Amino acid sequence: MKELWIVPLAIDIAGQGKQMGDFKKNNDMKTVEEQLTEQISGRCIHFTGIANNTCELGISYKDVRDETQRPYKFPCLKRHHGGDCSNAQFPTKEDLKREVDEIIENQKKTVNAMVMVKEHIAKTGEKIGSIECPCSEREGRLEYSMAEINGHVRSSCTTCKMGWIE
Ligand SMILES: [Zn+2]
Repeated sequence: MKELWIVPLAIDIAGQGKQMGDFKKNNDMKTVEEQLTEQISGRCIHFTGIANNTCELGISYKDVRDETQRPYKFPCLKRHHGGDCSNAQFPTKEDLKREVDEIIENQKKTVNAMVMVKEHIAKTGEKIGSIECPCSEREGRLEYSMAEINGHVRSSCTTCKMGWIE
């Protein structure tokens, strides 16, 4: 599946009171920026998530993690830290700020696009369709479909990383 911009925070989309993701569950006192900073600073810049087999450098998590403990410890993570990887590298302050700013910017764009799609559906009644993606310099189409059963919308752009699953 194509990589999409993540929308990891609670956003009230068009006043619907929808909570997106589970990011905020235990962190109600923290701002989105603080949560993101904490999350990103705690992992190696090459980390791709343990759902994958290897990191961006092609190093197998199996080869570097500590399996003597459960849950496994990873050299890529500050929490659950263990094992050994000579390439582990945590983000600098500058990296961190750049990445957090980028994610927040992408989230704003994504929320705007969600509103655009929902308005389009409300106006046209088309439950499957596409609109021009806000990344218009790339001439992307934001293709969407709305689930009959609960009205949730999923969408992804034909050219950029814009997209979400409700
Ligand atoms: Zn796009």
